[in-house]
Amino acid sequence: MTMRDKRVAANEPTEIVAASQNEHKIAELSAILEEYGYVVVSRSAVGASDFDVDEDGDSFEANSLKKALATMRATGKPAVADDSGLETDFLSGAPGVYSARFAGVVGKTADYENNRKLLRLLEGAPNEKRKGRFVSVVTLVFPDGSVFSARGECEGSIGTEARGAGGFGYDPLFTPEGYKETFAQLPASVKNRISHRAKALGKLKEMLEGAEALKVPPVSR
Ligand code: IMP
Repeated sequence: MTMRDKRVAANEPTEIVAASQNEHKIAELSAILEEYGYVVVSRSAVGASDFDVDEDGDSFEANSLKKALATMRATGKPAVADDSGLETDFLSGAPGVYSARFAGVVGKTADYENNRKLLRLLEGAPNEKRKGRFVSVVTLVFPDGSVFSARGECEGSIGTEARGAGGFGYDPLFTPEGYKETFAQLPASVKNRISHRAKALGKLKEMLEGAEALKVPPVSR
């Protein structure tokens, strides 16, 4: 029996607090982690929405760990953080760790402005130079001090215009390798199977199942 099967059979899902306040990310992490017997809750659901983490690390790994630890310390519960972004070859890896604040705009129009800036910087770049990848580093930390972190990447190309209304962030510009549709056009179930986050979480699952020493208290319900 896998760890998930044991937990589900015992009706003991483990609650994990998401560091992110981005509802799209929480939904994607939940959809995937649920498969492994975890229940992802938001910071506001556990009364811990009132702190910000300065994402000043120079790698996805550093920022992901920082966010997960801050959330675990603030809540006393297991926490999961995703630090992610889009790397493009034509721009030597940009926007990379600066993906969220690429255009310097925060709030509702940030995604739109980020996409506009990326399209502008890629103007004139031929198709073969528009390759890139989404990167996600997901970190799970537990109050007993265990830390699990994994990186997932999804290769694809950046289009010349936005296509599709689903997803978030750079999804309307990104066509994953092997598909004709952008992430914003593909059903969420497909994105959740092939995405950078899905790959990182798949690796984490293997780590967790191999972690005999892990002692995670079940959620009392
Ligand atoms: P973070 O919250 O600092 O990890 O910022 C991640 C940023 O990368 C988001 O705001 C998006 O702009 C972008 N990003 C990460 N994952 C995705 C995705 O799955 N689709 C589209 N954009 C993404």
